[in-house]
Amino acid sequence: MSDSAKTIRTRFAPSPTGFVNIGSLRTALFAFLFARHHSGVNVLRVEDTDQTRLVEGSLENMIAVMKNLGVEFDEGPLLLDGMIKQQGEFGPYIQSERTSLYQQHAQDLVKAGKAYYCFCTVERLDALRKEQVALKQPPMYDRLCKKLSEQEIEANLQAGFEYVIRQAIPESGTTVIEDLVYGKISYENVVLDDQVLLKSDGFPTYHLAVVVDDHLMEISHVVRGEDWLPSTPKHFLLYQDFGWTAPAFAHLPLIVNPDKTKLSKRQGDVSVESYLQKGYLPEALINFIAFMGWNPKTEQEIFSMSELIEQFDLAKVNKSGAVFDTVKLDWMNSHYIRAKSNQELLELLKLFLQEFNLSQFSQAYLEAVVEIE
Ligand code: GLU
Repeated sequence: MSDSAKTIRTRFAPSPTGFVNIGSLRTALFAFLFARHHSGVNVLRVEDTDQTRLVEGSLENMIAVMKNLGVEFDEGPLLLDGMIKQQGEFGPYIQSERTSLYQQHAQDLVKAGKAYYCFCTVERLDALRKEQVALKQPPMYDRLCKKLSEQEIEANLQAGFEYVIRQAIPESGTTVIEDLVYGKISYENVVLDDQVLLKSDGFPTYHLAVVVDDHLMEISHVVRGEDWLPSTPKHFLLYQDFGWTAPAFAHLPLIVNPDKTKLSKRQGDVSVESYLQKGYLPEALINFIAFMGWNPKTEQEIFSMSELIEQFDLAKVNKSGAVFDTVKLDWMNSHYIRAKSNQELLELLKLFLQEFNLSQFSQAYLEAVVEIE
């Protein structure tokens, strides 16, 4: 099959660590729109390798929120008949079920001289970091264990010392990445840290797992927030080390408040669930979020999901901050509310009131309320 005929495959790869935030919804939506626009496949992959950060129930919640908003997945853990079941031929799609795969790949890199065992203790690494900070140097691993001989490594392993596996970043040269939104960016390899790939508990770090999975799951386009841009040269190097072709990358601009400050991390301000609970309609939220970095380059502002699918293009995503303007959101929401029939509004109102335990109102009263313009 020629490259141009290859199926577009995108993925949304959340870590199940709590509520769904506005930034995650934007990433999931853009990956979905791009896949659908190209009749491709959208994958849901669960990145749960940091076991200390997991929050019970967040995967189920995330799946339900996405379904409610109309963001669909074709492969991964899907909600089928009220149960979460993994679907697709590239599974498992939950990283904690793939640990042996990452261990194998880490070993392959060690054998190829692209990664190495590191036996440094937490105390040594702490002291090193403090020293570097005091000297106003960027905190980085000093590559002490890269110099260990094979005999020393063997002896340490025999003695049962704890270890991690680190990426051996080239000590000179540059790594040039190509991004569909940010263009070409050059990184001097000396500024890149010898990142941990496999932790002492045998779990991979995000960096190893994301590269192995995006490759094995045949992801053609990685769509994610710009906060991952600084990690991308390390990922590029890993692709090279494995001898794999890297997927295309599209990093999405930071979402900011109208005064250009970073969107507040306070849960109430960034959780999608809280907007739904406040009465924002799913279609209004989707329409609004679609404009967080994308622009159709026309006057049209109201878009249904199918219009978004038809018109969405990663080439029209811009790199300047996407402004989260709640005045605009309110305006869009009022548009969608006005477009509803009285009957539809009544159904929504009932749901809303139930949640607030105010169902003492009579049917006639509620009908009269929705009549009001
Ligand atoms: N698990 C990462 C996150 O939660 C995914 C980043 C990526 O898409 O590569 O943001």
